[in-house]
Amino acid sequence: MPPDPPAAGELRQDEERPLSLYIHVPFCSARCSYCDFFLVTRLDHIEAFFRALAVETRAAGPLLRDRTVKSIHFGGGTPSLVPVHLVAGWLELAASLCTFAPGIEIALEANPEDLSGNAMEELKAAGINRLSLGVQSYRQRKLSALGRRHSAEDALRITREAVSRFDSVSIDLICGVPGESTGEWLGDLQAALALAAPHISVYMLSVEPKTLLERRIARGLVTVPDEGVQASMYAAAIDMLSAGGYLHYEVSNFALPGHHSRYNLACWMREPYLGFGPSAHSFIFDGAFERRRANAGSLLRYLDNPAGSAAFEEVLSEEERFVEQVFLSLRINRGLDVEFLRKHNKLGLNLPKVTERFIANEWIVIENGRLRLTDKGFLFADHIAGELISP
Ligand code: SF4
Repeated sequence: MPPDPPAAGELRQDEERPLSLYIHVPFCSARCSYCDFFLVTRLDHIEAFFRALAVETRAAGPLLRDRTVKSIHFGGGTPSLVPVHLVAGWLELAASLCTFAPGIEIALEANPEDLSGNAMEELKAAGINRLSLGVQSYRQRKLSALGRRHSAEDALRITREAVSRFDSVSIDLICGVPGESTGEWLGDLQAALALAAPHISVYMLSVEPKTLLERRIARGLVTVPDEGVQASMYAAAIDMLSAGGYLHYEVSNFALPGHHSRYNLACWMREPYLGFGPSAHSFIFDGAFERRRANAGSLLRYLDNPAGSAAFEEVLSEEERFVEQVFLSLRINRGLDVEFLRKHNKLGLNLPKVTERFIANEWIVIENGRLRLTDKGFLFADHIAGELISP
């Protein structure tokens, strides 16, 4: 019988694995039409939120002590809405509780409308070395359809300035926006290539329940491009960005050499991370056990009890670890160890049959003992992973 997992209060991080930190900053000045993230649009709680964040961070001291942190990611919400001295103060606190690795990545998600004046220089001075810009498009029509608050002109100017000032810059682009043509999407890709942002994330617009976008579609006010058009937009992104020297290293992510997101890659590679703030998730190694934990998606609950707002915490079973490993490994270009798959899946003799079918469809390749998705296969990543784990 395996020993019982230790109680939550006795958690210790596995010393061998590098650690990352995530801070969920749950504020936006307004909600974009397609967004279903946890956030609030009342900004008068920002200072109180950072006081609570300090309490939660200090309470995580035992998990941080003697640990080296390789990446920190301020996500949201819109972290660029926050006065920079609050970000700097939290970084100072974190640095007093753990060791920052040499060359640590400290990334912050920012919206172009928040970055005028000295904002970029202030963020750099606070320690931010990677800016993740919520550009979404360089086309005014698309930005208006998405309910974004920056103009196309802001997007171009801020990307140009950020690329010249920061060690690394990532931009998010969305395709499949209501009324979008393939030509419009190619224009966005051309603009991004001309601006030479070292990292580009490409997302297909997803229509989430209870969003303004969903209501508009239900009322017949707008239509989104169908799946076939979205797939051809995604294929165009792969072709153009690969030709531009970007490595397609994850389903939605493209990087020039050395500019991949260390924080996101840590999550996909199942390295440990600690999340702070409402709705933030953590993945904690605890001897032979792996735990996932999530804070409740409630700002008031978080402010009331910052160190005790976990909504769930679970130790992963062996089966759950296997499923996670398959789904996450297939998202990245490194792929999945075939031996690992053979050992753990329940397909037995059917595995070669399944993989042969995927190879014939040109969805996967098997090279040097690893199973990787092709560019075509990336579109079906979850479907392929699902079949590989099914008995
Ligand atoms: S800025 Fe980002 S997090 Fe905020 S509402 Fe828009 S999509 Fe959502």
